[in-house]
Amino acid sequence: MGYDIERFVGYVNEGLLCCICRDVLEDPLQAPCEHAFCTSCIHGWLVHHNNCPEDRQALDMSVLRPLYRYMKNDLNRLQLHCKNREHGCEMICSLESIDRHERECEYSHIPCSNTGCPVLVERRNLDGHLAVCEYRSRECPNGCGYTVLSAEDTQHNCVAELRTELELLRSEMICRMEEARHEMESRLDSQRRHMVQKESLLQNEIEELKSQMSRMMSDLRSLMAAERQHRQELEQAELEKCELMELRKGLQKDCRLNSDASKKGTHFRPLTRLDSVKRKPREVTVI
Ligand SMILES: [Zn+2]
Ligand SMILES: [Zn+2]
Ligand SMILES: [Zn+2]
Ligand SMILES: [Zn+2]
Ligand SMILES: [Zn+2]
Repeated sequence: MGYDIERFVGYVNEGLLCCICRDVLEDPLQAPCEHAFCTSCIHGWLVHHNNCPEDRQALDMSVLRPLYRYMKNDLNRLQLHCKNREHGCEMICSLESIDRHERECEYSHIPCSNTGCPVLVERRNLDGHLAVCEYRSRECPNGCGYTVLSAEDTQHNCVAELRTELELLRSEMICRMEEARHEMESRLDSQRRHMVQKESLLQNEIEELKSQMSRMMSDLRSLMAAERQHRQELEQAELEKCELMELRKGLQKDCRLNSDASKKGTHFRPLTRLDSVKRKPREVTVI
């Protein structure tokens, strides 16, 4: 929709009017047939038509172009009243700068800045409204630390508020402690499982070592038994050796005696051989 022609000061060229809304062009576009329209007007028209509303020539969105520069300049230079004229604004400015003015116009109606407040107020009256707005908030004068909406002022009860807060904190704390406990328990549990596993591993190793040791002990016992056996056999052999030595000595002695006896024809007597040796030369000298 264009700008209401009533707001303009002085004559407005026919060519700067929208062919559809007949007001002064707002955000204009131009067709190849040189007819011009507000963007919103022609977009609305082309939803149900495919021609120029002025001369019925074929038309679609893709052939629309910006307004000729000289027309755009003429448009921008038009002077018009602020839209808040009926509320008291006496500003007249060029079409080019009317938007900027209206954004900051003291007579524009703006929403109250307090959240939840439905009041629309002229910008110049905002401060006055904020001072009495039912949605204004302020810190509790009793020092409980709460921000109280003006509308709830009489219902505010510091103790009740604090009690609610305390309950909230308490339940939050319980929740957190519960979480921590759960985590700790699960950690302990996994450690316990780990230890049990380790213990059974160690137990197995101990069993293995025990069986190794008992095998070694039985080996050792059989080795010792074998050694004992060997030693007995050795002693036995030694004994037999001694006996045999004795026997040999006896036999040698017998053997010698026998040979002496067979030489002299007498049985062995001590010194017999010596005597005969001593005696023989004497016999000889006597002869
Ligand atoms: Zn229009
Ligand atoms: Zn046309
Ligand atoms: Zn104004
Ligand atoms: Zn308000
Ligand atoms: Zn309070």
